[in-house]
Amino acid sequence: MSQAPTRYAYVTLVTNGDYAMGAAALARSLLRTETAADIVVLHTAGVRSSALAPLQTLGCRLVEVAHLPLSDEFNERHARSALHAAAPFTKGRKPEFHSPLDNFCKLRLWELTDYETCVFIDADAIVLRNIDKLFLYPEFSAAPNVYESLADFQRMNSGVFIAKPSADTFRHMLERLDQPDIFWKRTDQSFLQAFFPDWHGLPVYFNMLQYVWFTIPQLWDWKSISVLHYQYEKPWEANHPKAAKLRPLIDLWHAFYAGDELPDISAMANPEEAA
Ligand code: UDP
Ligand code: MN
Repeated sequence: MSQAPTRYAYVTLVTNGDYAMGAAALARSLLRTETAADIVVLHTAGVRSSALAPLQTLGCRLVEVAHLPLSDEFNERHARSALHAAAPFTKGRKPEFHSPLDNFCKLRLWELTDYETCVFIDADAIVLRNIDKLFLYPEFSAAPNVYESLADFQRMNSGVFIAKPSADTFRHMLERLDQPDIFWKRTDQSFLQAFFPDWHGLPVYFNMLQYVWFTIPQLWDWKSISVLHYQYEKPWEANHPKAAKLRPLIDLWHAFYAGDELPDISAMANPEEAA
């Protein structure tokens, strides 16, 4: 008799070798939580099989996806140089290997209709404790995009979200996404917030952004953080501009990536103590 199918999957996206490294650390972190859910890696055709092999070894389900069928005009407006010129990033720096257009492939998650519920997690995040309860949350749930101030609480971050795959929803999304002159300033994130204006708010600790470590240190709490998300500069980039400020977080990512023995995360020093 075949095993009962799992109804739940963690899903991430990988369109190049750099994010494949990120996904490997993420997958290791999820396995450590002893989740019974599948781990699905959506990947584009261009990712080298040598970059995907470690993910296969970890037991991830690899699903090849194409870019969305979008107009040339849409693609030109959201190409890296055009987007950075129209809506510059002033708070942090995006790595060279980040292509904004690739972000829209996240929407392919809605095509995974074998699953009842998916929890999407960016490939630049790690999970610090079991979060399977998120499969019982409604579509569309996500955490606020907090890394500067109170004003952040009205925006959502699309690095972690709960969604119900559905061919109908996917079709509606494609209809809404590509319209004459439309510009999704922060790509999938702006789109998803517009598509789900009444998004359900998750506690901020389900998507703790690394910059909070130095911008709002009083919010940091290792005992509460479930998902740590390395937005902007990536922990595997050598000597990036924020590396000195983020050292304990970067070291933690590398321990997950290498499969090293981990510290007791709940007992790690919060920013004030670490300073
Ligand atoms: N992504 C990818 N290739 C790209 C850009 C993005 O695979 O060129 C995927 C990857 O899963 C990544 C997510 O989309 O984690 C969103 O991008 P990123 O995390 O770099 O954005 P940030 O969190 O810094 O806003
Ligand atoms: Mn991210």
